[in-house]
Amino acid sequence: SGSIKVNLDDIHFGPDGLVPVVVQDTQTGAVLMQAYADRAAIEHALTTRRGTYFSRSRSQQWIKGLTSGHVQHIESIHLDCDGDSVLYRVQQSGPACHTGEYSCFYRPLLPQTDQTLDSEVVNPEALTQQSLGDTLERVYTTITERLRTLPEQSYVARLHAGGLDRVLKKISEEAGEVLLAAKNGDKAELATETADLLFHTFFALAEVGVTPGDVARVLEEREGKSGLKGPKEIG
Ligand code: AMP
Ligand code: ZN
Ligand code: ZN
Ligand code: ZN
Repeated sequence: SGSIKVNLDDIHFGPDGLVPVVVQDTQTGAVLMQAYADRAAIEHALTTRRGTYFSRSRSQQWIKGLTSGHVQHIESIHLDCDGDSVLYRVQQSGPACHTGEYSCFYRPLLPQTDQTLDSEVVNPEALTQQSLGDTLERVYTTITERLRTLPEQSYVARLHAGGLDRVLKKISEEAGEVLLAAKNGDKAELATETADLLFHTFFALAEVGVTPGDVARVLEEREGKSGLKGPKEIG
């Protein structure tokens, strides 16, 4: 049921002939923008794989990036359950927003607090409802957003100000704590320390510019290979 194929006729365009399009970055999972498309724009997107919309202010088709160069390569297009909303999953080159912001949604009405971020990472209960991969992707997105905006009260901003060397030291400390918790067989402690380790590792990834997708690709490559390959060979 996760892969029911649909077609253009399954899209319910509004009375104005338009359907809202939500645009997501496949690299980070972030929501980049929301715009509208008419049937011709969707057809153009399907055939060219370029992010194509209908501009309500200009009343014409709009291929994202035609003037800015910030084009979108569409990896996949999805309809929601009742067909009144479309999702483009894209590789975005440059910022998606015409203001130069990475995402159009850079104006928090209810900002996420650091406590929320911490509880997402360190609370084992928070991990039971969804996959660790999804949670880590969101954490990574939050870290990159904080690194971009550097809010004064943010833990990420403080880590950034402290310099990469300090964070790398922190990672090895957390690794030591993981080791101790595992040795002691303390499950809650092991979950917490692993979360700390992953958080700070993901912070380093974000600082250096390595994405969760880059790491996933390496793991997936190994998945297909023989189980004989031990940690020594993996290095
Ligand atoms: P571009 O499609 O990036 O070449 O930008 C051309 C014009 O499209 C801009 O000047 C804006 O008017 C509009 N535009 C581009 N990106 C966005 C966006 N994310 N949201 C709303 N309007 C946009
Ligand atoms: Zn819907
Ligand atoms: Zn915008
Ligand atoms: Zn720790």
